[in-house]
Amino acid sequence: MKKKKIAVLGSTGSIGVQALKIIKEFSENFELSLISANSSDKLLLEQALFFQPKHVIINTESGYSYIKKNLKSPFTKLHLGDQALCDLIEGEDFDIVLVAIVGFAALLPTISAIKSGKKIALANKETLVVAGQIISSLVEKHDGNIIPVDSEHSAIFQCIQGESFDSVKNIILTASGGPFRGYNKQQLENVSLKNALKHPNWNMGAKITIDSATLMNKGFELIETKWLFDVSFEKIKVVVHPESIIHSLVEYQDGSVIAQLGEPSMYIPILYALNFPKRIKSSAPKLDLIKIKSLNFEEPNKKIFKHLGLAYEAIKCGGSYGCVLNASNEVAVSAFLKEKIRFIDMIKIIEKSIEKITFVQNPNLEDLLEIDLETRKFANSII
Ligand code: NDP
Ligand code: MG
Repeated sequence: MKKKKIAVLGSTGSIGVQALKIIKEFSENFELSLISANSSDKLLLEQALFFQPKHVIINTESGYSYIKKNLKSPFTKLHLGDQALCDLIEGEDFDIVLVAIVGFAALLPTISAIKSGKKIALANKETLVVAGQIISSLVEKHDGNIIPVDSEHSAIFQCIQGESFDSVKNIILTASGGPFRGYNKQQLENVSLKNALKHPNWNMGAKITIDSATLMNKGFELIETKWLFDVSFEKIKVVVHPESIIHSLVEYQDGSVIAQLGEPSMYIPILYALNFPKRIKSSAPKLDLIKIKSLNFEEPNKKIFKHLGLAYEAIKCGGSYGCVLNASNEVAVSAFLKEKIRFIDMIKIIEKSIEKITFVQNPNLEDLLEIDLETRKFANSII
């Protein structure tokens, strides 16, 4: 069997590292052809020395010099910066491009992958929050192929295989509720960064962990669902399920509800996306229902976790709303991670940004790049 050539964008992150473990475990199926990072030079060098991919890309000049000095391989070429990454995605031959870069930075590489007809395994969700309309049109134009990696969307994707999408009545996204589930307004005022970074079920990168604590992550996943599966917002529901065993459900017109279950681990969604449409024997953690005993469900509290409501607004309004929501959230989360602001200040920064930045109904890509910058500038100015 011919090995699939894989490009992992954001190979030094939480998803990236897990993907490389899978590629190593199934080295008879996969060949790692490209890895990239923003600034994590030591880990990127380690990965380059171990896997000997054809291309390694880093964004910082210091990281570039460090790797250049230490990477003595005749097989691997080193490149610097975003543009080099986009050029390689467009010009080289890959069977799958796994987009595991965090945030807005994944937008242009994802567009390069779609335009050059690459099959995409998409972990990054911010791209669809910012530019869902543009991405969808490009996918249609280039006959694109996006396999979701986000666990909820992987679940939905698995639940609709072999079904007619017309018969879907509702999509039900599950949410763990994060570390502050059940908190009231007063309790949220005093939460620490340390506690916000302690997700009850999932071990992820810092940004998405904070997004999970505010429920922005679930809000983003609503928008991601709309664009990945072309459904109207009325059909997308969220239910809090603290055990994170059911990863999402699809309700059909005949009353049937199909769910996908598994231990909370990204191993299966990544493995599934890389092997789709096949399933292969794996070392995934086994689901033991007897040990789990019971599963619980509750309504999300939209009054306390206002980020979720903003995401519904973003779907309803469309246009540049998602771009402003994402950029102000990125700035707010980054400031919270640096302990410059409190947990409850994040929503204020987002709300003020949405109020301040002029709404554009049909933005093109250049407009979005500008709106992103303008929003970041404004959000930073109020911090
Ligand atoms: P991490 O923060 O752990 O990793 C992010 C990766 O992106 C790193 O390799 C990082 O490089 C790279 N990166 C950061 N900024 C830039 C930039 N400006 N240009 C190029 N590369 C950059 O994130 P996660 O792995 O947690 O998440 C990645 C994406 O997947 C996110 O969009 C997240 O929402 C989504 N996702 C993650 C899940 C998880 O379990 N972690 C689950 C579902 C979805 P460096 O190391 O140098 O900073
Ligand atoms: Mg998810």
